[in-house]
Parts: sequence; structure tokens; C-alpha cells
Amino acid sequence: MSDQTPPADRPPSVDTLARSIADVSLPHPLLVDAARAAIEAGDPDRARGIATDLQRRMLTPVINGTGTLLHTNLGRAPMAWEQAATYSNLELDLTTGERGSRMATAPALIAKACGAEAAIVVNNCAAAVMLTLAGLAEGRGVIVSRGELVEIGGGFRIPEVMERSGARLIEVGTTNRTRLADFERAVAEHSDDAGVILQVHQSNYRIVGFTEAPRTAELASLDRPLVADIGSGLLDSRCGWLAGGPPGWLAEEPAARQTLEAGADLVTFSGDKLFGGPQAGVIAGRADLIATISQHPLARALRPGSLVLGALQATALAYLAGDGDAIPFWRMVVLTVDELRARADAIGVGTVIDTEATPGGGTLPEVGFPSIGIAVSGDHRYALRNRVRPLIARVSDGQTIVDLRTVDPGDDADVAEALGSL
Ligand SMILES: *Cc1c(COP(=O)(O)O)cnc(C)c1O
Repeated sequence: MSDQTPPADRPPSVDTLARSIADVSLPHPLLVDAARAAIEAGDPDRARGIATDLQRRMLTPVINGTGTLLHTNLGRAPMAWEQAATYSNLELDLTTGERGSRMATAPALIAKACGAEAAIVVNNCAAAVMLTLAGLAEGRGVIVSRGELVEIGGGFRIPEVMERSGARLIEVGTTNRTRLADFERAVAEHSDDAGVILQVHQSNYRIVGFTEAPRTAELASLDRPLVADIGSGLLDSRCGWLAGGPPGWLAEEPAARQTLEAGADLVTFSGDKLFGGPQAGVIAGRADLIATISQHPLARALRPGSLVLGALQATALAYLAGDGDAIPFWRMVVLTVDELRARADAIGVGTVIDTEATPGGGTLPEVGFPSIGIAVSGDHRYALRNRVRPLIARVSDGQTIVDLRTVDPGDDADVAEALGSL
């Protein structure tokens, strides 16, 4: 315990106070912080409360009762992946015994699943866009529509990402209307300089009314590589992994396979939105461009480790097997209202009501689809959030609502207990 001996300058009362709350299961240095904060606030009795508040802020599993499937505050797509504490063949080709590439596994499977020649994976989609622009247009121009110079939430601002990549912005068109001719003119005017054309999907906003924007197929006809940041990671608009085919609300959402088929040279998307995997960013498309991008020094700085690659590999294999049930996000999407109602009845607390679930995650801002919730009167969010297993609910019209579409059926008993205890 010698490393926990208080330094001479620490008032002994801090350490004594920290030891008096040792039953709060946090490492001693954190209890010391809590004790010191309480003493500095002139209220030593608050030490326990400060420590338990700190404990409540630790990363922990929660039950999502919000009905928002990809809830940014709740880590977007739910995903289970376990890795034993062993070595892996991360960069060893087991067939040849030679050094292999970590991008030969999960990224190659994702490429296969969306019909791309090749793919690489980085930390998130923001990193995917930045690396793509750095790799293909550092010190050169990127042509982008003024209608797509947007912020997608969480500080992902296209102009700033472009600037950080070392590429120069060449803006064309206007906020509401940009034509193919605007791009044609920019390509001609910047013929020595323009590296790529970037198309950014309007994930979480819509420009409505008097609008115009060229389609992917039109932009693909121009003499520059076309990068389409589709964001959400829908792999294929036909949703072959769902027995019932694509849900109607997905109709407007661009998919990786169809965007590449329309002529985009590369697509970028998140791993934890409609793809339903861990946080990651995928760049997929032409093999020669992927090879160029992979050689950029940022690729090394942004690459994921075996935990993320393992989770992505499991998700990609599920897609290739056509097994949407193996992907928690899609399993929740296809639950029928009847199934949800039966679960709500079985829970047997509160009032069963019709609700609308939403995809969330910065995708499809105007979409809702039928779901079932349990309502209890009053605002009980605080009490539910502060359970050992926090239950995150929403409030509407003076009622607390737990939407069952986003609750794992294995958690129904916990929901019953939580609502029953109110
Ligand atoms: C969500 C989104 C991003 C950012 O993705 P992260 O994985 O959160 O970095 C970028 N572009 C588009 C179009 C998006 O929808």
C-alpha cells in the first residue's frame, strides 16, 4: 500500500475521508479526488455523493427505451463482440506464414458484400472522408456543391474536414440548386488542380422546395474520381438479408452497392449506423484508389485494431450469409407491431400505446415507423436512468414512454421491474 501513502502536503483529512467512503467501489485515487472536491466545497459530507456521481458516469450497459434505433447518445447500433485475451492473426497470413494485411479480412468482406473492388476501414466516417481527401487531393482542389457544405452533427463539418485533409475547397452552385453544368465548369476551370468530386448525402437534414442537385450517375460522367459520402452504411438497397425485403422507409436512403453501380468511384460510410456494426468508417470502391489512399500516412494513424475489425468481420459475414437476424439493428427493425404488443401485454405494467420508432443516428430525419410503447403518467426519466441497469425513456404529454422496439426482449423483465417500482 506504500503507493497510497498520502504525500506530506496533503491534509490528512482528505485521505481519512477517502477511506471512509471505501465501500463505493472505485479505485482509491478517485475516492481521494471526491474527498478533496468535497472538502474544497466546504462540505465533506458530499464526498460520498460526488464519488457515486462519478461512478454513475462510467461507461455501462443501458436499456434503450427511446424508440430511436441508432441513438447517438447511446452508442448508435447495438453490437456484441467478444474477443478472448489471446493473440490473433491480425497481420499474419496463416496460409503463407508471411506478413499479412489487417485490411485483407473485414474490409475485404465488406467490399464483397457491397460489390466494391476493395475497401479499407478507419475509426469513423469523418476519418474516412478526411483520409480519402488527403489521399486523393492533398494540396489540390475538391469540387463540392454549396448545398452539401454542411454540418452533420457532432461537429462533423464538411468544409472543416476538407481543410484538415489538406485539400482545397472548390464550391459550386448554390445552397438550394446545383446543376451538372456547375460541376462541368469547375472541372474545366480547375483542370490542373481538381483532384476529386465529393458528393455528400444530406443525412440529417433536407433542403425542400425549389431544389436541384445532379444525380450520382451524372457526376460520374465527369472526368474526375467521384467520392460519395453516403454516411449511413446501407449496403444494398435490396436488403437481401431481410426475409421481407427492404422496409418502405428506406426508399430514399442511398446504398453503397447502388451508389457504386451508378458510377461513384468510392463510397464512405459509418460502421455503426445502418450497417449495424461497431464504430468505424469504411472507404469502399476502386482498388487503385483504395491502394493510393492506404499509402497515405494518415491511414496508419486512423486504422482500427483487432477488436473493431473482429466485430466488423462478424457483421460482414452475417450480410454475406443473408442473415439479418444476426445483426441486432436489423433484428429490431423487422419486429412486427403484433410481436411488440404481445411483449408489452406480458410486461403487464402501465398502458400499452401505439408509438413511432425512428432510425436515428443522423439518418432519415423525417422517417418514423409503427411501434409499441408502455406509458406511465408523470416524468420518471430520472428514476429510470438511475437504476443499476439504467433504462432510458422519453417523455411526451406528461407521460413517460418506454418504446419496446429498441428494448432487447431479454431485458423485458427488467423493464417490468423498473416500471413496476415507480
Ligand atoms: C454520420 C455521417 C458522417 C459522420 O460519420 P461518423 O461515423 O459519425 O464519423 C459523415 N457523413 C455523413 C453523410 C453522415 O451521415
